[in-house]
Amino acid sequence: MRSSAESLASEPVPASRGGLIGWVEGHSEGPLLLCIGGLHGNEPAGVQALKTLIGQIQARRQLLSGDFVAVIGNSLALAAGRRFMSYDLNRAWTPSRVEGSRHGLSVYVDPSGGSSSRRRRNPAPGPEDAEMVRLLHLLDAVSRRRRGPVHVLDLHTTSGWGGTFTSTADRPAHRRFAMAIPVPLVLGLNEHLEGTLLTHLDDLGYTTTVCECGQHEEPRAVNRAQAAVWLALRAAGMLSEAAIPDLESSRRIMRAARRNLPQTFEMVHRHPVQPEDRYRTRPGFTNFQPVRAGTVVGEDRTGEIVAPVGGMLLMPLYQKLGEDGFFVVRERGDLGDPDGH
Ligand SMILES: [Zn+2]
Repeated sequence: MRSSAESLASEPVPASRGGLIGWVEGHSEGPLLLCIGGLHGNEPAGVQALKTLIGQIQARRQLLSGDFVAVIGNSLALAAGRRFMSYDLNRAWTPSRVEGSRHGLSVYVDPSGGSSSRRRRNPAPGPEDAEMVRLLHLLDAVSRRRRGPVHVLDLHTTSGWGGTFTSTADRPAHRRFAMAIPVPLVLGLNEHLEGTLLTHLDDLGYTTTVCECGQHEEPRAVNRAQAAVWLALRAAGMLSEAAIPDLESSRRIMRAARRNLPQTFEMVHRHPVQPEDRYRTRPGFTNFQPVRAGTVVGEDRTGEIVAPVGGMLLMPLYQKLGEDGFFVVRERGDLGDPDGH
């Protein structure tokens, strides 16, 4: 185990370590685009997309300004087809846990789902502890080798249907980057989730967005993830429009997933769940389905669970593991619509 950030930073790019799909150095200085797939192990679409794309981007190396890096988020959970093994790797990036991970300390997450964390009495590292150390090495290599500003595209899928959208911090540069992918943008999600990877990367000064690409098993989720990567490369200014194979078809793929939904939403409610709640979403709900205040969305051991406010439902939980039962979002109309809907 490394004992300090300095010792991590002196290491070469960890090309031989598991989880790095590829690192393409462009012919000239420029931004670095970091793409992450499979931060949740039951979401393989982003990883499939990145594995397909890496050769195509490598072939354009002479046209690429800056650097393209593709990584697997949680490789152990991905191999097992599970969201996570012992804790959610997208809720573990609080400053204290990152610091503990750098010092080789196992991070213990309360299995009851509570947000408090403490270090294990038993120091044996769990699967996600090893994944965090691996990702910290990769992130240190990114920070050390970048030749310009860093952009991050974090590719996910959802357990419910109809959920293709981006999600980012409510900051102008972040919104611009996310809106280059012509699907709905949901603001404010991260503010309600503790320890997401992108919150950590925002704190490093990177411009980040999540792209949810559809339902976990939907083949089109892979196509959407590929389209999102090309659009992000263009948005970061790393490839000219002409250097991207059929940029217009990438836009079409994403616009088709947008349907006629508004451009921008903000989160107004999150229903947190813990394993002992035994929460179940009622069948049939989809992403962006309108709900009224009082609509029964699911049940738990206390009885019916309703949406306390009206709006549109987002990410209704249809899988065993997860800390979010559902979200309610509302249109936010003050930020314009570059796609002209
Ligand atoms: Zn996910």
